[in-house]
Parts: sequence; C-alpha cells; structure tokens
Amino acid sequence: MKKIALSLISLLAPLPAMAAAQTPEALAQQGMKAGDAYPGLANVCDLSKPLMTAGQRPASAERTNGSQQRPRPERPENASTAEPAKVFENLYFVGTRSVTSWVVKTSEGLIVIDALNNDRESKSYIEGGLQKLRLDPKDIKYLIITHAHGDHYGGQQYLVDTYKPKVIMSEQDWQELEKPDQQFFNPRWGKPPVRDVSIKDGDTITLGDTTLKLYVTPGHTPGTLSLILPVMDGAEKHEAALWGGTGLNFGPNAARLEEYSQSAKRFRDLAAEAGVDVFLSNHPTRDGALDNIARLKERAAGGQHPFVTGEKALGALELLEDCALAQAQKIRGTP
Ligand SMILES: [Zn+2]
Repeated sequence: MKKIALSLISLLAPLPAMAAAQTPEALAQQGMKAGDAYPGLANVCDLSKPLMTAGQRPASAERTNGSQQRPRPERPENASTAEPAKVFENLYFVGTRSVTSWVVKTSEGLIVIDALNNDRESKSYIEGGLQKLRLDPKDIKYLIITHAHGDHYGGQQYLVDTYKPKVIMSEQDWQELEKPDQQFFNPRWGKPPVRDVSIKDGDTITLGDTTLKLYVTPGHTPGTLSLILPVMDGAEKHEAALWGGTGLNFGPNAARLEEYSQSAKRFRDLAAEAGVDVFLSNHPTRDGALDNIARLKERAAGGQHPFVTGEKALGALELLEDCALAQAQKIRGTP
C-alpha cells in the first residue's frame, strides 16, 4: 500500500529538476549541494571566472606584471611535507600536501597508485613513507598512473628502476605521452614512463586477494583512469571510488567539459552499483584526505571512519557531473 501511494505521488509530482531547463548557475548550485561534503571540489563549480589552461595567467595579472612571468620562488621543503598514514586496513596514504600516492596492500604485494612529481618525491614519500609504515617497498608489484600529467607520473623512474613494478596506464594516455608536444610541462616533473601495460575501460587488476576495477573516464585527460576498490575498516568492508583527474585546466572547451560530465555521470552510476561509500582523489585538497587522516587519528573506538561518507561519496561525483556541464553550458550560452 505504501509503495503504491509513493508511486502515485511521484507521478503527480512536478518533473525532477534535472529534466527542467536549468541555468548554468542553478546546475552548479545543484552540484555544490550534492558534493557539499567535499569543499575541495567547489572550485570546479565556480562560474565567475573563465576556465584557463594550466600555467595560463588571467589577463588582469598580466596587466599588473607586464608580459614577463616572474619565476615562482622555490617552496621550502616542509611546505610539501605530509606524514604517511594507514587509512584503511589495506589502503595507505604516502603523498605530499599537494599530490597523493595511494598504496593498496594485498596478500601478494603492493599496488601504488600515482608516483608524485619526481624521483626525489617518490623516494622520500613513497619509498620512505612505506618504510615508516612498516611496509616493504620491495613488495611493489604494480604502479598505476591515473593520467598523463607529470604530478602523477614524474616520480616513476626511481620506482621502476628500483622495484621493477608493472606500470599501468590507459591506452589513450600512453598515446598522449607519445605525442611530441605535451600540453603541460613543469620543470619539477621527472621523466614520463616507458609504455608498459595498457588498460581498457572496465579492465580489472587482481593481485592476491584484491581486485581493482579500472574505468577510462575522459575529460581531465583523454584517458584518465578512475578506480573502484574494496577497502577494509577493521573487519568492515567498504567500496572506494577514486576519481582520477579533477581540474578543469584544459581551457574553455565545451565538448571536453561535456565529455568530463558524462564520464562523471557514468562513473557515479558504476560506483552506485558497486556500493561505493568512500570518495578518494589523487590530490589531498580535493577529498580532504589530510583533515580526514587527522580525524582518523582522534577517532574513538567504534566511531565513524571519516573517509566513509555513505551517499555523500556519490554526491562528489554528482558535483563533478553537474558542474562540468554547467561550465559547458555557460560557454555555449545554453540552455
Ligand atoms: Zn592532471
């Protein structure tokens, strides 16, 4: 009886907001609301500034400083320091304050997800971090690179030379790295990897008792990989969705923003199907990793795990879907 009553109500109710024509501003608001547990994603929804490619400076800044770009002062070493941390029984943070490397522990060894900016960082944070956490970097079997930007692959060479992991990237992003000219370049970044294992959408990686699902979610790069992986809080199992590339730093390209939005929508649906209740990023500012790690340390026995956000984890992907689409609509002047 209750079910019938509910479906009658839904028939009588006005069309859901999605179906109605929405202004880009309203769509961005909707996204912000869905993703309100992740304030680090909010700037994806900012329609007040034009989208720029990375490294591009706003016209006003150029007017102030003339056409010459001032070199950025080197940041002091401790500005990037973050402590390695065990986040779940089988998931470890070994990143800096700006980029994350996640490590999945399995019964047959370690899977490293992203290699940070350069060999100095991968040696210090990934190798050093694992050692601090009493894990043996010799157990690294796979290095998954989420996308073809140097802040995620730049530290690969040290890991590859030292531990010989299989290096995994999507076919599309291997091809990106093989182009003679890269869209982005930063002198801090180490060398790109040599082509190794190529992943197609929906492929899985199994090591020992653990299977990771990998999806090609184009937008941030043509072959950004996003992952769904099981994580354990004590004996309690959860599913985590790791969004592989967040920033809209490819300029005001409406088609690409629409592709990004579609990828986020599809990945959200896959995540919902998998029962995802944890949202992860490869930048700690995006998923609030460092705050969550601090809260995890303070957690009382039996308390809520700060990375486990239930439905809110899917809300993060809804934010990305809605806000990338809002940006595209703003550029196209629709609806
Ligand atoms: Zn990137």
